[in-house]
Amino acid sequence: MTGQSFHGHFLHGRGAVYRGFLDAHVHLALIDPGQLVDGGIARVIDLGGWLPNGKREDMPDVAYAYQFLTAPGGYPSQAGWAEPGWCREIATAADAAAAVDLQAAAGASVLKVTLNAVAGPVLNAKGLTAAVDRAHECGLPVVAHAEGAGQADRAFAAGVDAFAHTPFSERLADDLVTAMAASMTWISTLDIHGWGTPTEAFDIASDNLHRFHAAGGRVLYGTDLGNGPLVLGINRREISALLGAGLTPDDVLDALCPRAPLGLALADTRVTFIPGERPRDPDEFTEWLGSARALTHSELEVLE
Ligand SMILES: [Zn+2]
Repeated sequence: MTGQSFHGHFLHGRGAVYRGFLDAHVHLALIDPGQLVDGGIARVIDLGGWLPNGKREDMPDVAYAYQFLTAPGGYPSQAGWAEPGWCREIATAADAAAAVDLQAAAGASVLKVTLNAVAGPVLNAKGLTAAVDRAHECGLPVVAHAEGAGQADRAFAAGVDAFAHTPFSERLADDLVTAMAASMTWISTLDIHGWGTPTEAFDIASDNLHRFHAAGGRVLYGTDLGNGPLVLGINRREISALLGAGLTPDDVLDALCPRAPLGLALADTRVTFIPGERPRDPDEFTEWLGSARALTHSELEVLE
């Protein structure tokens, strides 16, 4: 016997079933992707570096960006973790259009641009706008890594659809946050700021996210898996941070199981199953979510 709810359905006495949980910011090339399903993650958006390498039954469903579009010498081309070939450098509008077409030809369904003024040069206005416009002509949403004063503002002005990270370099003005909330999606990634020992950037990002969410902005759960010591599955600290930024448990579930994140038509090979009753206490809710695992529809049928 099952009961229906807004977010999922409940197998009485056994647990809850949701649309497959999504981590909207991962780097599969930097982790063991075969562990994610057992950790509750059914779908991912890879935001740089990864290309499909044969069919893997044990992996979540994936949408991917492939190369980072960046300025010559820009982030992450000088970062130790980025392989040669992961970045596509853009100096002119013509470079930008060619770079977008290259990603589309490689099967990308989302575009990643970087504007990290702390780590190096950033895309100029012409290159950025040309990349965004070309991506939109190709039907690809654009996700930006914005870092350094003013970069989030620049990305938004250029028509970027989403931030790969909740802006963390500076407290954004209320009117800017409200304007962003009307059209943008923010991928949370709060826990990378300290991994449990919150930093100043964690506080700035949490404050920005609090106001963005309160203004009606679309939030997606994302962890930047591959960046630092992160669990290969649902990250309880990321959930706690989302609750701390004012999301309710239902809002957290919205952030975890969107139907078409960024408008992407992700496959739904798996659902996410969480054993036991959903707790009312927020701490227990976080622990409960952390026990999720992703199951194929036939694996679920065995439980039902
Ligand atoms: Zn990342």
